[in-house]
Amino acid sequence: MFKKILVANRGEIALRIQRACRELGVKAVMVYSEADRDAKYVRLAEEAVCIGPAASNLSYLNMPAIISAAEVTDAEAIHPGYGFLSENADFAERVEKSGFQFIGPTPESIRIMGDKVSAKQAMIRAGVPCVPGSEGELPDDPAHIRRIAKSVGYPVIIKAAGGGGGRGMRVVHTEAALINAVAMTKAEAGAAFGNPAVYMEKFLQNPRHIEIQILADKHKNAVYLGERDCSMQRRHQKILEEAPAPGISRKLIDRIGERCVAACKKINYRGAGTFEFLYEDGEFYFIEMNTRVQVEHPITEMVTGIDIVKTQIMVAAGEKLPFTQRQITVNGHAMECRINAEDPYKFTPSPGRVTTWHAPGGPGVRVDSHIYTNYFVPPNYDSMIGKIIVHGDTREQAMARMRTALLETAVEGIHTNIPLHRELMVDAKFMAGGTNIHYLEHWLEHHKR
Ligand code: ADP
Repeated sequence: MFKKILVANRGEIALRIQRACRELGVKAVMVYSEADRDAKYVRLAEEAVCIGPAASNLSYLNMPAIISAAEVTDAEAIHPGYGFLSENADFAERVEKSGFQFIGPTPESIRIMGDKVSAKQAMIRAGVPCVPGSEGELPDDPAHIRRIAKSVGYPVIIKAAGGGGGRGMRVVHTEAALINAVAMTKAEAGAAFGNPAVYMEKFLQNPRHIEIQILADKHKNAVYLGERDCSMQRRHQKILEEAPAPGISRKLIDRIGERCVAACKKINYRGAGTFEFLYEDGEFYFIEMNTRVQVEHPITEMVTGIDIVKTQIMVAAGEKLPFTQRQITVNGHAMECRINAEDPYKFTPSPGRVTTWHAPGGPGVRVDSHIYTNYFVPPNYDSMIGKIIVHGDTREQAMARMRTALLETAVEGIHTNIPLHRELMVDAKFMAGGTNIHYLEHWLEHHKR
């Protein structure tokens, strides 16, 4: 096991990794920008290094600053968390070239999965079902693009090969709008991701977003930890997740889980990863793989009892996975509400000083958050300030616990989306289970204030 690792992230995930390190008896070096000087995990840290000013590109995205922080503190490995540099293959490569272990897959795996076109091609080769669409990157010839769209069938969605975070996608309903939409997506993709390549998929009308969590070690062992339903989204951003997915049989999940594990073995994957699928009419369609720990990983931890972050660190250190597929069981039901510092209905960010913070508690309640009373939410980063996670024997019990937890939670001084979560937890259709990826947007349309 490592003696010391460096945590190259901020916010709740930095705290989450710090907690995993403490449990493993590993020292954690925290890095922080000038805006995060007063973060809880920095105050709690045995060692912390300032890596630059508030702007992410000068701090959390600053590779030389992070690598030299690892050098001066004598860390052996770097945990990238999620976001920032976590899916940057060049960073993973530089980390390893500088003599540190990157806590994640190989740069090569990240590179393949980071380009959605090459990821899809790898999945097709590994026997994972994908959304029907163009075979690869779209060609330049408009007539050729029109032919592809015709054979895929409208509506189609144009997606950036380098896209992420719900950006770089455009739905096209008619041939008349096609060429212009491709050109616009290409231009945006070039500007936002430095890669103008786009591809085409059939736009599924009413799918659910179901993802499979996997863990793999360096000894060719891989397992899946069941699924998560992340269909409650706004602008392709998840806000509430649950595990297991209501109404999908274990048999179907096991079948797709086994495919994911086989794909991991085929591509020599190591570490934690998530295969994201759209699910419609009993079929799974791969859309992308995330080669890092995800925001919603705790719901899987709650139903399986497996610590995903600890396992990430253990397998990076070369240990074998401490469990086999047969030892993994899904117990009860878990839900997560992402708490964002934003207006609950207009979604404008609401940074500032938290004057009161009361976290919920009680049986089956877990709070992953770095905030505290008097904490200042900086305006420079993502608006998520924490996650409330609950577990129950049944979905009903999990929802009841979430309602209580949301009622107990008090955040003052800034706006949060807690009122929205409170409403969703008593919404009849959500309570029935199995709502699709458009449900939340439609709901918001009808509940305009
Ligand atoms: P990102 O990397 O930006 O998150 P994804 O490929 O994972 O992009 O897609 C994000 C979301 O966009 C999905 O969860 C889904 O809501 C929607 N989406 C993507 N592809 C399709 C598709 N072919 N049909 C319908 N919706 C899609």
